[in-house]
Amino acid sequence: MKKRPAFPAQLDLGQDHPAPTPRMAVTRVQSSAQATKGTTALAKPASVTPARPARAKAPAATTVDVAPTGLGLDSAQVRGRMVRKLYEQGIEDAMVLKAMETIERHRFVDSALVNQAYEDTSLPIGLGQTISKPNVVARMLALLRQGRNLHIDGKLGRVLEIGTGCGYQAALLSAMSKEVYSIERLRGLHEKARENLRHLRAGNLHLLFGDGMLGYAQGAPYAGIIAAAGGEAVPDAWIDQLGVGGRLVAPLVTAQGQQALLVLDKTPQGVQRQWLEAVHFVPLKSGVA
Ligand code: SAH
Repeated sequence: MKKRPAFPAQLDLGQDHPAPTPRMAVTRVQSSAQATKGTTALAKPASVTPARPARAKAPAATTVDVAPTGLGLDSAQVRGRMVRKLYEQGIEDAMVLKAMETIERHRFVDSALVNQAYEDTSLPIGLGQTISKPNVVARMLALLRQGRNLHIDGKLGRVLEIGTGCGYQAALLSAMSKEVYSIERLRGLHEKARENLRHLRAGNLHLLFGDGMLGYAQGAPYAGIIAAAGGEAVPDAWIDQLGVGGRLVAPLVTAQGQQALLVLDKTPQGVQRQWLEAVHFVPLKSGVA
């Protein structure tokens, strides 16, 4: 079994951050060495420089088909196969594929489910919640990056994620964004995500415990907002906190009572909405528990 490094997560209440909102504790996922650097620049507005996401070439075929057998597995080949499938299914964004090839999904699921970590299936993560299947995660991330909100180096600026869950998507976002704020309303999952993410020591990833329906004004304006739970309507706070040129991707209940993906662009002319395919996400709930 691979041993995870025992890194203490830092409570992010240092002088390089504004005071958190009441009931919203911020945890920066990084090492204590990084904590002293204080590199975060909250005052800077999110960049809205348009750039198109790079299209990936077909990932190289993996010749050996190995299934994960435990946490100590050499899982790179299995991830390579997952990424190749995603590409075949139409996910062509090179940065999304690269992140999914790098981030070890098996570290985010319970040990009993490790064997299924790289299958295209959603999995339970505890407290009645689920991690979405890789295809849906990749699709939403690619959509987020197709907005007019990319940095010049191809990365997104500041991103807000609603519903940290086990932290898998937050890890992917941290690899493709300048700064990530991820909010979870269930304390048990917030803590679990902190544990799961520790090995990455991602200094640009901030975990928040609180009600994501309120967004996180201190991090605004955001280049992107992505929700992993489906509500009845887009909370006003999200639209307020989205920067002009920013894009929001969220599952939402339609007029027909089904959930579908909503892409919302905030343009200088106003808000533009596009409804996409049907999805099945856990419900967006208010308050914390
Ligand atoms: N992105 C996650 C998926 C988590 S499932 C992952 O990679 O694991 C959706 C999560 O949204 C659940 O953990 C649920 O508790 C959370 N959630 C629902 N309503 C919320 C709210 N108002 N604020 C923050 N989190 C919320």
